[in-house]
Amino acid sequence: MNDQKIAMGPVKKIALVAHDHKKQTLIEWSRFNRDLLAHHKVFATGTTGKLLEDELGMRIQKLQSGPLGGDQQIGSKIVEGKVDFIIFFWDPLEPQPHDPDVKALLRMAVVWNIPIACNRASADFMISSPLMDGEYNRLVPDYSMYRIRKIDIEEA
Ligand code: PGA
Repeated sequence: MNDQKIAMGPVKKIALVAHDHKKQTLIEWSRFNRDLLAHHKVFATGTTGKLLEDELGMRIQKLQSGPLGGDQQIGSKIVEGKVDFIIFFWDPLEPQPHDPDVKALLRMAVVWNIPIACNRASADFMISSPLMDGEYNRLVPDYSMYRIRKIDIEEA
């Protein structure tokens, strides 16, 4: 099995998402890291993106609101190779109407080996990594055997 190498350039495509009770935390974290974030291409789910744009005064591409499909849009971008890095402050204490979408996004991040920080300490370690401003080859598992797996179909 040969892992596939996906080159990540010095300008990272960063997705930011926060559930409602975590938005304050993400705003504070982003304010603190504004200058670092400004080197990269940032996009976010709708409400998170609007709040961050107002707060940081920088352009953020806004997707749909999470419960309206924004998480799924990020998942789709992962599959298309359009996401390098995710900060996703999800709320462990509050049921979410789009819980299946949250789970799907977390799953896609693992399938495609996307760095994902789900709390502030992880986000601190990730954003301060020397890899942030350099080239990085992200290894994605070789799924070719999975694609050609044998499926038993019974005769009609
Ligand atoms: P929001 O979505 O930024 O539109 O609030 C976040 C989420 O719940 O996924």
